[in-house]
Amino acid sequence: MKTSVLKIDPAAPDAELMARAGAVIKRGGLVAFPTETVYGLGGDALNPEASKKIYAAKGRPSDNPLIVHIADFESLKPVVREIPEAAVKLAERFWPGPLTMIFRKTELVPYETSGGLDTVAVRMPDHPTALALIRAGGGYIAAPSANASGRPSPTMADHVLEDLGGRIEMILDSGHVEIGLESTIVDLTEDVPVILRPGFINLNMLVDTVGEVRIDPGITEDGEAKQVRPKAPGMRYRHYAPKAPLTIVEGSRSAVTAKINELAAEAARAGRKAGVLAAEENADLYRGAHVFRVGSRACEETIAQHLFQVLRESDAMGFDVLYSESFDTPEMGMAIMNRLLKAAGHQVITV
Ligand code: AMP
Ligand code: MG
Repeated sequence: MKTSVLKIDPAAPDAELMARAGAVIKRGGLVAFPTETVYGLGGDALNPEASKKIYAAKGRPSDNPLIVHIADFESLKPVVREIPEAAVKLAERFWPGPLTMIFRKTELVPYETSGGLDTVAVRMPDHPTALALIRAGGGYIAAPSANASGRPSPTMADHVLEDLGGRIEMILDSGHVEIGLESTIVDLTEDVPVILRPGFINLNMLVDTVGEVRIDPGITEDGEAKQVRPKAPGMRYRHYAPKAPLTIVEGSRSAVTAKINELAAEAARAGRKAGVLAAEENADLYRGAHVFRVGSRACEETIAQHLFQVLRESDAMGFDVLYSESFDTPEMGMAIMNRLLKAAGHQVITV
């Protein structure tokens, strides 16, 4: 299959191009598209055949559910059994935006889309190209991240082409995404909302809006090691593992740079090629290893924006071993470290 790449100006998505993309969705095809978080791989959420194609294109296990994307609040009603008060408040404050909410689903949503569950994840993305595609495609687009299963989520159209070129009909290219990490997922089917995946919308913002909010133990613990069964099925699968083993070193700035320099020197003596993931502010303190400047601690959004891209680049450059600073920043630290810890298989040295 030939994958066509259409450049879409997010400031004014071209109506004719968007109609073409919408027609692909309506006839059951797949279109990758930008959102404010990462690129998504979209198909008609109400068409089981389209959802099956999404799993096949990504090589994704079919019990790992998809997120249904909508373009207006009214569209939520036909796909969910009830809309709790907390969901109304969260939608008022954060939609369109990087927040996914879990509801009990209606029969309109096929089990192929919900990964066999009786619940459905729904989000209204804050990106003009995404909203235009949802409207042109019939109102409900199922989309997981547009990477091959097990690879870092795509933050640019090129990443999508790299992973899914030849396997999907179309990619809409609106440049680099804004946030760079997938949406926050909150389960609203329990008495108290539960965070299943941390993202840009952090715990404080949620508590501020609805009061008590819990965090799924699968997030804070090393779920794999402690055999906590996470509620979000996707959290069971190993994600974003770079080819080279990655170790996170945490502690004071001077202790971390000293330890990573010591480890990099050891690697060099053994003839192993080492890479370091560092903040802009520390990059010049490392010796004898290739340094990736992930972003600036003074502007933590930049770390989130570039993390997945750096993980892809490090794979392409063929390192034997990777070390990373810890990025436990004030607002997005929980989301950034959730992805980084998974990439590292929870391998952490504290100095
Ligand atoms: P992705 O966009 O690739 O991160 O995939 C969507 C994520 O949403 C998956 O990791 C799922 O685990 C999560 N998700 C989707 N639907 C549900 C649901 N009904 N219950 C819990 N988690 C869900
Ligand atoms: Mg994903």
